[in-house]
Amino acid sequence: MKFFIATKNAHKMQEFSRILEKSNIELICEKDLSEPIEDVEENGTTFEQNALIKAKSGLAATGLPSIADDSGLCVDYLGGEPGIYSARYAGEHGDDDANNEKLLKKLSGVPREKRTARFVCAIACVFPDGREFTVNGACEGYIAEKLSGNGGFGYDPLFVTEKGCFGEISADQKNAISHRGQAIKKFEQELKKYI
Ligand code: IMP
Repeated sequence: MKFFIATKNAHKMQEFSRILEKSNIELICEKDLSEPIEDVEENGTTFEQNALIKAKSGLAATGLPSIADDSGLCVDYLGGEPGIYSARYAGEHGDDDANNEKLLKKLSGVPREKRTARFVCAIACVFPDGREFTVNGACEGYIAEKLSGNGGFGYDPLFVTEKGCFGEISADQKNAISHRGQAIKKFEQELKKYI
């Protein structure tokens, strides 16, 4: 079954493709279209709402069943920040270095036991006939005091789990435990009810 995946983030696309490669889901993305899709304003107040906004814009542009994720990092000591603002925490959308630097500054001097955090991912799926569903995944960890590794993207070099820092473990190790990996597994299960 062919799905449009509404993300411009090549890393996310890779993670989705890798996890879904053994399923019968064929993913097409913006670069497979003849024209680019206009950016949509992510003005929801939850990860689920923003995922639905992006999936609906994909459906409107392609007419295909569409999926989108919205994800981010929630740090307990910061009252859940950066949350839905994770991509633009330091101002400019997707400036990973500036976001990591800002996070480290905000947690400067905060002891390890208060640096707990989780990555959260909501995936929305919308169909041309109006049906839709969302699923969620979360992955617990803590924020390191310095960056490690050069794998992954975003806050990965600062996020440490029982299996190690997301910046240092392999893509398969990350996908097995990550917020997105868990949400994609739930997505595959839920999808069976719709097709
Ligand atoms: P979105 O594209 O609006 O969902 O923004 C997600 C933002 O959250 C990214 O730009 C990253 O800063 C952060 N993020 C989400 N998932 C991950 C991940 O798996 N690793 C590292 N950072 C992530």
